[in-house]
Amino acid sequence: MTPTTDSTEHPNEQPAPLLQASGISKRFAGLMALADVSIQVGAGETVAVIGPNGAGKSTLFNCLSGVLRADRGTVTFDGQRLESLGPTQRSRLGIARTFQRIELFGGMTVRDHLMVAERSRSGRGGLWSDLFRSSKPTEEEYDRCQAVLDLLGLDDVEDRSADSLSLGKGRLVELGRALMCEPRLLFLDEPSSGLDRNETEEMSLALETVQREHGTAVVLIEHDVPMVQRLATRIYVLDYGSLIASGNTMDVLEDEVVRAAYLGVAT
Ligand code: ADP
Ligand code: MG
Repeated sequence: MTPTTDSTEHPNEQPAPLLQASGISKRFAGLMALADVSIQVGAGETVAVIGPNGAGKSTLFNCLSGVLRADRGTVTFDGQRLESLGPTQRSRLGIARTFQRIELFGGMTVRDHLMVAERSRSGRGGLWSDLFRSSKPTEEEYDRCQAVLDLLGLDDVEDRSADSLSLGKGRLVELGRALMCEPRLLFLDEPSSGLDRNETEEMSLALETVQREHGTAVVLIEHDVPMVQRLATRIYVLDYGSLIASGNTMDVLEDEVVRAAYLGVAT
């Protein structure tokens, strides 16, 4: 973008974004899953990544969260380069994610899912500590879990096992597990996938509460347009691994190229 004024007229320059990913490319055998994709996210900002199935959305999350190594490109989070860091190191810096497919442990209670996340954050977990130390939660661990249970409205199901929960509650538990590391940046891969209207509403409300009370920046992959409109200020549109549009939420949703590629609307 061409600056219209020089910096002497704007002594307060824009702060650097919390996340800046530039020129990310990823190839799987013959398939170019991501081609030169750049996105940025400001502190406390929520942006959405939309696009048809197979567009490369989950691959982008995998590259940004460290699950996959990008072939090219740079990722800077809060001024620190991330390319050589794995998922655990990135999560210690304050980056959390949920996965497109729900991944909960059947027989484990809701509270225990959060407790395991808490112990992995604090480094207290692991086989030896479980064998040789009392695994009773400390007061601090208990309070941290309780705060997340309250925030997400899960306190009434805290003792239920994960396999007895509705899909909507299960997705809230996954969100809760991600929140236990007090992330400054949260990647959510299709949080409303498989949910009915009421459950989607409950998820939107929970995410609004997280935005409001914790100022967490969010990157949201989501097909539910009302949810995107409600939560995201900006949208990036991926199609066949390339960014085809980006901008303010309403502008992008009204863009005819986007409507044709993504929403299946004839232009
Ligand atoms: P989206 O999340 O937008 O639906 P994905 O990022 O899952 O898309 O996939 C983008 C493309 O990359 C698809 O064609 C998919 O089949 C392919 N792909 C994703 N992950 C792998 C992988 N681990 N190995 C090979 N191909 C993959
Ligand atoms: Mg996906």
